[in-house]
Amino acid sequence: MKNILVIGSTGQIGSELTMSLRERYGNSHVVAGYIKGCEPKGMLAESGPSAVADVTDAEAIAEVVRQYNIDTIYNLAALLSVVAESKPRLAWHIGIDGLWNVLEVAREKHCAVFTPSSIGSFGLETPHDMTPQDTIQRPRTIYGVSKVTTELLSDWYFHKYGVDTRSVRFPGIISYMTPPGGGTTDYAVDIFYYAVRGEQFTCPIKAGTLMDMMYMPDALRAAMELMEANPDRLVHRNSFNVAAMSFDPEAIYHAIQEVKPEFRMVYEVDPLKQSIAESWPDKMDDSCARNEWDWHHDYDLPAMTRDMLQKLSMLRADACPCEPQQR
Ligand code: NAD
Repeated sequence: MKNILVIGSTGQIGSELTMSLRERYGNSHVVAGYIKGCEPKGMLAESGPSAVADVTDAEAIAEVVRQYNIDTIYNLAALLSVVAESKPRLAWHIGIDGLWNVLEVAREKHCAVFTPSSIGSFGLETPHDMTPQDTIQRPRTIYGVSKVTTELLSDWYFHKYGVDTRSVRFPGIISYMTPPGGGTTDYAVDIFYYAVRGEQFTCPIKAGTLMDMMYMPDALRAAMELMEANPDRLVHRNSFNVAAMSFDPEAIYHAIQEVKPEFRMVYEVDPLKQSIAESWPDKMDDSCARNEWDWHHDYDLPAMTRDMLQKLSMLRADACPCEPQQR
């Protein structure tokens, strides 16, 4: 039986991944790692064990791994793209010094490690259409620089020490349980909150700007299925392109209008977010993930839009906890 530590369990992805892992492997086998001030709440706190797991504190990570006999670590600690640009030193400290601590513990204790990369690991010189698995990665954001380093360091630990490191380059993740943490693709989540409240949405990204996106259930499956994949089939490890849908603000606006014809969107472009978005792929080629571990997506734009609107409307009826203006 696996014993899993999720570092960053209270974030957008971690809060749902921890619950999915508990469903799959048993509640007591999945530890929700958190930092002080970001304690787990509700079902996340009640359904299984939790422990302080700050990646910048190597001894604390080692102690949790020892205490719970951990064999698999999902390391989700990071500052996202927009936040990282304003706190570059901290972004590096968490993303890279922290990763080093995690990989060292994994080497000593023989743990497998999943540390996500991102579409942010690419840059302006990368081919934007059907971005290949192996291609130019020259990002100019500190987020992207740290993600390329994450990929290289994770591969180095695999080749040098045999640590079972694996990861995916996540697109923008769309979900309704926990608000996103300050990324360039957050607009594609925020827009749903405005639509459900019946308010006009002001989009910070220009019409025509394509980016890869993925609905949370597909993202969770990608993370879990890659870690369960037969290692003999893996030609790549850090990190796999995974794709589901690629759209611009107009396309998601119209997809929402299909369900809510009264919904309105206007533009007020944020220069930082726009410049980051333009440096990222329009659409990734994820054929390596499909060939090497049978990756597939279930949700396209219309299916995701219908589900988001339905789930968020139910949450609102039940007093939605995530008001965008408070984020
Ligand atoms: P998030 O910002 O919502 O959550 C990050 C988590 O890290 C939080 O729980 C935070 O408390 C925790 N954290 C911060 N500092 C820490 C530290 N020192 N030690 C331990 N934990 C710490 O981010 P997310 O959206 O859940 O992203 C998780 C991972 O997936 C990140 O590596 C991110 O770069 C990657 N990713 C996310 C997206 C997306 O759209 N959400 C897209 C691509 C890649």
